[in-house]
Order: sequence, then C-alpha cells, then structure tokens
Amino acid sequence: TPLTTSRPLNIAVAGTGYVGLVSGVCMAHRGHNVTCVDIDERKITIMQDGISPIYEQDLEELMYLNRDRLTYTTDYISAYKNADAIFIGVGTPEQPDGSADLTYIATVARQIAETIEKNCLVVVKSTVPVGTNDKVEQFIQDFLVNDVKVEVASNPEFLAQGTAVRDTLEAARIIIGTNSIEAEDTLMAIYEPFGLPIVSVSRRSAEMIKYAANDFLALKISYMNDLANLCELVGADIEDVARGMGYDSRIGSKFLNAGIGYGGSCFPKDTKALEYLATLHGYELRTVKAAINVNKDQKILLYKKACQRLITFNGLKVAVLGLTFKPGTDDLREAPSLDNIPLLLAQGADIYAYDPVGIENFRKKYPEAGLDPERKNGKGSIRYVMSAEEALDGANVCFIFTEWGEIKAVMPETYKRLMRTPLVYDGRNIYAVNEMRDNGVEYYSVGRK
Ligand code: NAD
Repeated sequence: TPLTTSRPLNIAVAGTGYVGLVSGVCMAHRGHNVTCVDIDERKITIMQDGISPIYEQDLEELMYLNRDRLTYTTDYISAYKNADAIFIGVGTPEQPDGSADLTYIATVARQIAETIEKNCLVVVKSTVPVGTNDKVEQFIQDFLVNDVKVEVASNPEFLAQGTAVRDTLEAARIIIGTNSIEAEDTLMAIYEPFGLPIVSVSRRSAEMIKYAANDFLALKISYMNDLANLCELVGADIEDVARGMGYDSRIGSKFLNAGIGYGGSCFPKDTKALEYLATLHGYELRTVKAAINVNKDQKILLYKKACQRLITFNGLKVAVLGLTFKPGTDDLREAPSLDNIPLLLAQGADIYAYDPVGIENFRKKYPEAGLDPERKNGKGSIRYVMSAEEALDGANVCFIFTEWGEIKAVMPETYKRLMRTPLVYDGRNIYAVNEMRDNGVEYYSVGRK
C-alpha cells in the first residue's frame, strides 16, 4: 500500500531520463501531481501512450498506477508557470577536459526564469559541481521576467540504473541542501510521504555528498581491481580476499567484486568532474585520480590477455556476451563493450554479440550493414544474435562483458560443446575456475588463478 501525502504539491520535472522520469513517477506515486517535461517529442509521445522510453523494472506499472497524477509534455511554459516546485533532472555530461557540461541545466534555468508566474522552489537533482546551485539561483534571478520569488535547492540522486524505482522508493537516505527554512520545508513536504531518512545540509555540502559517495564507490571498485591484478601475480584469489574483507563492518561486503572496471553514465564522469574541480582549486585529488587510472586500464585487461594468447583475431569468430554497462539496464554509456569491440573489429574479428536488452542501442553505434563483411580493409564484422548459444556456436573465443542472468545461466559444458575452441575471457567472474577447467574450458577471469 503506497504512502500518500496529505499535502499534494504541483511539481514539474525537467528531463525524463533515468533520474527525471523515475523521480517524477515516484513522487506521483506518493501523491503529488507531477508534470514530466522533455524536449524530446518522441519520448513524450510514447509516455503519453503509457510506455516508458527507458528500460527500468516496475516503471511502466507505476506510470499506469499513477496515471491520474502524471502528465507528460514538451510544453514547458504551462508546466513551469504555476508549479510549486520544479525539479531539474537533465544531463550533465562530461566535457573533453573532464568538467561537467552545464549547458542543459542553464537552458532549463532560463526557461524557468522566463515562464514562472508564482513563487517556486527549483530543485537541482542532476549531479552538479559544488557551487552550481548558487550559480543557477543567480542565473534565474538575472533572467526573471515576473515579480516572483525563486529559491534553488540541491537534492542529489543516488538511484542505480537497473533498480531505479526500488532505489527511489526505498532510498537509504534523501539528501536535501537548502539555504532557507522555507526551501527546507517545501522539500520536507515533498519527501515526507516517502517515510525515509532525510539528511538536511547546506547546498554546497549536498552537492559534495553526491560526488563524495559516487567517487568512493568508484574508488572501492578500482581498489579491488588493482588488488585483483596483484592477486594474479602472487597467486592469491581476489574472491576469497573479498570474502575475508567483507566480514569487517567498517568495510562492508558490497561492491568488492573485481572485474573489467566500472562504466555507466555516473562513475566515469563524476570521478573526472571532481578531479577537475579539485584541480581548478589548485588541489590534486590523488585518490580519485588513481581510481580513474586503474579503471582505464582495467577495461581492456582481458583484450590484452587474449592478445598474449592469440596471434591474431583476424577471421576469428568472437562471441561477445553482454553489451550494457551492467545488467538490468539498456544503457551503454561507458560500457566496457564499447572499449573492447572497436579493438576486436580493428583486428578483423567476426563478432557475434548477444545481450538481452542492449542490442537495439548498440546497433545504433555499430550497425551490421555499416561494417565491411568482406573485410576489404582488414576490418572485422559484427552481427547480433538472439541467444548466448547462437553467439557461441562455432566461436573461437568468447568475451563476457555483462553478468546478465541469461548469460550466467549458460552452463560451463555449453562452451565446450558449442565453441570451436572453448577459450573464454570472463570480465565478470561468473564461473568458478574449477568448474570451467573440469568442463574442458580454457578460462581466464579477473584476479583468480
Ligand atoms: P538522461 O540523459 O537519461 O536524461 C536527460 C533528459 O533530459 C533527456 O531525456 C533529455 O532529452 C532531457 N532534456 C534535455 N534538455 C532539456 C530541457 N531543456 N528540458 C527538458 N528536458 C530536457 O540523464 P540521466 O541519466 O537521467 O541523468 C540526469 C542527471 O542525473 C545527470 O546529472 C546524472 O549525472 C544524474 N544522475 C544519474 C543517475 C543514473 O543512474 N543515470 C543516477 C544519479 C544521478
């Protein structure tokens, strides 16, 4: 039974991506009236038909359940002008120098300034460098058309793709960063029906908490990957090591898996953005810098291992299992597959790729027809198949990049049975080393003997 608010507010959300749409739908689920705004007409049209433009568990069900409190539109003027609160959930992508690109935020800020007709709270949910909320507030003041009062608050988001709805409705904490009692009160009213712990801090601290938390997780991953590489050299097993570490409650047992590095839309850009911010202030953030460097090398670790084993990939049938940066999402941003597949293609591999949901997006980047099947330029080819078995059939080598349930379900004997040569490079340590060996598979993974 959903908790609902006794004080429903009119909320607009700018941006209907993973963060904006999930937040908007969950706020409607808790009783608020929410208008989701996007500039992408295609997205809006399909949402109006009840379809989610992103793959996220339970999202469509909640869109349906709360349809009376949800509106989807590209008409930002009518969405913003009478809103009690406007959430900004647009992207803040990485720029070539590592800094966060704030142009989408600025566009929304300007649209808000030019349209609002009553006092309102603007809530920055996107991940933004410390100090951005101050700038957004000033920017809105500078462009304000009507005589209304606008305040800006920080409310960073911690959801993880693949579990976004659950992460929002059952968040470990909600961070609100405000500079006034009124702003704090409005955010409290919005989140009160969620019944979750709320941490109320200054705007700058809230902005920093987001980077601090994300970069710590990235650091944890890079630390385990760095150790995994050493484990291989000295004959220890990273999984045993992680198990032994995890019992210590100061360390915790989560996020200790070694693999081929972190991807996604957040860790890579948020580590670089914090490092950039530090450099801007004349400070070298050595720990985060190390996490970035370890991750860069880790992503192509298995490819390099395979190069030590094989003369060439030219003309080899290569099975690729998993394209997305993690299971449960169709998102490919910074996925290890994107680092490895161009290297394999450049060497002339014939790739047969399988992913339960990522193919459609991957095909946009690497269309089958766009490649040269006759390898006239010494280049490889890529085809997309509907099952792991199809990819493995007759393959010379297999790379596992994502630990989807469908891929974990492939039995070790299947590799031996279907592949021409059962040579497997597993970036997610899906299988027990002994099991693969006992089934006659030549198996390489991360941090294990
Ligand atoms: P996204 O790219 O999936 O979605 C952004 C959306 O904003 C797009 O649909 C785009 O069309 C829309 N948009 C752009 N300009 C607009 C405008 N002027 N008005 C209305 N809509 C506009 O982005 P995302 O992954 O949801 O990330 C958004 C922010 O949240 C980023 O700052 C990101 O760092 C942060 N964040 C993301 C996650 C995650 O897991 N994806 C988690 C926590 C925080």
